[in-house]
Amino acid sequence: MARYTGPVCRLCRRDGMKLFLKGTRCDTPKCAIERREQPPGQQNYRRNKQTDYGIHLREKQKVKHYYGVLERQFRKYFAQAERAKGNTGDTLMSLLERRLDNVVHRMGFGISRSQARQLVNHGHVTVNGVRTDVASCQVRVGDIVRVKNRAKSLDLARSIISEGAVDVPDFLSVTTEGVPEGIIGRLPAAEDVSIPIETQLIVELCSR
Ligand code: SF4
Repeated sequence: MARYTGPVCRLCRRDGMKLFLKGTRCDTPKCAIERREQPPGQQNYRRNKQTDYGIHLREKQKVKHYYGVLERQFRKYFAQAERAKGNTGDTLMSLLERRLDNVVHRMGFGISRSQARQLVNHGHVTVNGVRTDVASCQVRVGDIVRVKNRAKSLDLARSIISEGAVDVPDFLSVTTEGVPEGIIGRLPAAEDVSIPIETQLIVELCSR
């Protein structure tokens, strides 16, 4: 599946908030948004008052940038959330949280979502014992996500785990002794999402 390959700090500056797309660098003074808070671009302009549409659009873009999905894939998630029972916004966020690359990142096996995605794409991760190299794969309750039991994958995962201290959310339980693995304890809920998002604005925009 296609992915964004341009400069990522630019996305944070455009959205006006930290999206933590660069792993440990995001918590250092080198973070671009801490040095230059204005939106990207050569013109030295300040943030103009946003239109109603602009506010809605920005919220959607934040979510897309945060989870690393492009428009077409995002629309598929939204259509799936709309068809499901319950609150569309919460279901949408739950679907995004259940992506394998996100789960690998939140388990602490990848410092950023893009690194987690690369680990998955390069075959370093298994789901229920089966090598899975599709980052958008949806995990289910009870699934066991494990680093592949071979020296190269284990060395890589252990160096990443030792590098970053990730707050593991309640819906996951993680063991880093031996072969690092984690279990999906329950479906992610709205409070498990680690970015402040007004999902109602996204639903209003995408339902137009
Ligand atoms: Fe965003 Fe991280 Fe870049 Fe800061 S360092 S602007 S949080 S991607």
